[in-house]
Amino acid sequence: MRAINPPNISLNDVLNTCIGSISSDELSTKLNAIIPSLMFAERDYIIKVATSDLFQIPAFTRGDHAIVTGNVTKKELKDLYSSHMVPASKPARVYYDQIKMLAPLSICPFCGFGHVTTLDHYLPKAKYPLLSVLPNNLVASCTDCNKGKNDETASTKQQQCLHPYYDQGHYILEQWLYAEVEESSPASLKFNVNPPAHWSHDDKVRIQTHFTSFKLANRFRVQAATELPVLKGELEYDFTSAHTNGVRQALQRKFFAASSQHVNWWKSAMYQALANSDWYCSGGFR
Ligand SMILES: [Zn+2]
Repeated sequence: MRAINPPNISLNDVLNTCIGSISSDELSTKLNAIIPSLMFAERDYIIKVATSDLFQIPAFTRGDHAIVTGNVTKKELKDLYSSHMVPASKPARVYYDQIKMLAPLSICPFCGFGHVTTLDHYLPKAKYPLLSVLPNNLVASCTDCNKGKNDETASTKQQQCLHPYYDQGHYILEQWLYAEVEESSPASLKFNVNPPAHWSHDDKVRIQTHFTSFKLANRFRVQAATELPVLKGELEYDFTSAHTNGVRQALQRKFFAASSQHVNWWKSAMYQALANSDWYCSGGFR
């Protein structure tokens, strides 16, 4: 996961711009009437997210035509996003684009390698319609993380995946992602989560939830499988000049370079595992 600075965009501005592009007077009147409820939902979100307690916000489990608040249905709240914030022709698209651009180098913060193509609702709009256009609930994401995420509603702290705007600090700075070399032909890597012993039990389970929810074990494995053939050519050179130690030193340098950028990058875990494998360094790379 990668940390991102939260958007500095006012919900009130987003709402006024979205509602301003609605042609039906009846709908815009209904939506204007619930702005206080939407602002209240924002305050509640900001308070709860600071202590990783978003799971305490009750999910709205009724159908699209059910009233959520005032006289506004779930579908009307979902459409506020889909029809008035996403389309390129709508003025509120400017906020969508601003949030998308918060991800450095357009790298998806959830997986740390995918290219940002969309925005993800951290709490999905289908279950949290009051948060459908809340900027702090919208996070730049790759398509795989957005579509593949397990959208089960969390009912405990531990069942929540990490929030790139708020779950930073030790999740980013301390190593929890590791890999093991599988001595196969060709070699492959198996990624796993092993958080530091001093973390709280909740944090240890949460990082595993994140890893499982975004199916990162398999997705990292595929990334590594495309990188290993490229690496093989480079390591042949190191092996010819300095044998096993030359290969190990080359991999240690790569590990150092990768982990100084992102400790929990799949590349960091891969180079570390390869450098630690006697089998790989002594010729397994072939
Ligand atoms: Zn992703």
